[in-house]
Amino acid sequence: MTIKVFQIDPVPVLAPYTYEKEVIRNAGGEMIIGDCNTPEDVLAQAGDAEILLLSWKNIVPPAVMDALPNVRLIIRWGVGYDQIDVAAATARGIAVGNAPKYASEDVAEQAIALLLSCARRVSWFHHRMQRGEWSAANSNKIYRMKGRTLGLIGIGRIGAAVAQRAIGLGLNVIAYDKVLSDDAVRAVGATPRSMDQVLAESDYISVHVPLSAATRHLINAECFAKMRQGAIIINTSRGPVIDEAALIDAINSGHLGGAGLDVFEQEPLAKDSPLRSMEHVVITPHMAAYSEEAWHGLRVEVCEVVSEWIRDSWSSAVVNPQVKANLRPRA
Ligand code: NAD
Repeated sequence: MTIKVFQIDPVPVLAPYTYEKEVIRNAGGEMIIGDCNTPEDVLAQAGDAEILLLSWKNIVPPAVMDALPNVRLIIRWGVGYDQIDVAAATARGIAVGNAPKYASEDVAEQAIALLLSCARRVSWFHHRMQRGEWSAANSNKIYRMKGRTLGLIGIGRIGAAVAQRAIGLGLNVIAYDKVLSDDAVRAVGATPRSMDQVLAESDYISVHVPLSAATRHLINAECFAKMRQGAIIINTSRGPVIDEAALIDAINSGHLGGAGLDVFEQEPLAKDSPLRSMEHVVITPHMAAYSEEAWHGLRVEVCEVVSEWIRDSWSSAVVNPQVKANLRPRA
């Protein structure tokens, strides 16, 4: 029996998915490339697919899960899977998977790049040089990073990779993780702290938690008030983890020294967003996960998850393992 694998929203950079089609065919499946922009498109195109592959679009609501009884697994091309209603999938016996190893090193590099750019004012000087200026005068003080404290909120794969790099820069790394034990935090070279301690003791804070109902606006006005005067915040996780309006206020008031952001509450970032023109803010367009190596690794990892599923009706990349008890039977 050939297992159908439906790519909901293909991305041009991977088209025509030659590598994926071949690996999936060798595993006993068939990859079908869709072109979906709405839930109705998914309903019309997915046919009897068992596995749905989702790049970015939030277009598989519970009603689509109900109307496609053959679907047993939805895989997000990436680490974050906030585009998928996992609770609804679980309730319907559908597994949700991701590519957990994808781009940890790359996102960590981007977090450090944003931190260095903010702390050393690289982007600020760069823009002035582009305008023909030549002056070391600066509206913000610059402090040597060595010996200062970086606080990590979430120290899973990416947070740990940031810690490793930050230690190399001479930073003292402290971290709060809601799930990991203190020993696990220490094992990657960070000192465990409570959330409030991280907020109060850090010169720089970098956020690395998944987006969920529990982490939406985890970093809000109250948190900014607890942060040190002049502190810099870096976010490469998901935009809604930070209350963006509160962040803008905290920077405009002079309390925060700056922010380095790869992710935003609304993406693409609005053309008139104040973040685009704030001089203490460095922004990149949700590209932290990109590198040639990361994209290659992602393709391999997603194909491994699909192949594993075709072979075992299961994968170690399933993020809702409790679904095993009521997994939909294969049609
Ligand atoms: P991970 O699952 O390995 O680590 C996340 C950590 O956050 C875990 O240790 C978890 O215990 C902790 N955590 C969860 N809720 C928390 C809370 N409320 N407070 C403190 N800690 C909490 O994930 P990862 O690979 O490190 O990735 C982190 C996030 O980065 C992803 O969920 C994804 O949204 C984002 N990401 C962004 C990009 C990008 O392009 N900018 C790329 C990859 C991943």
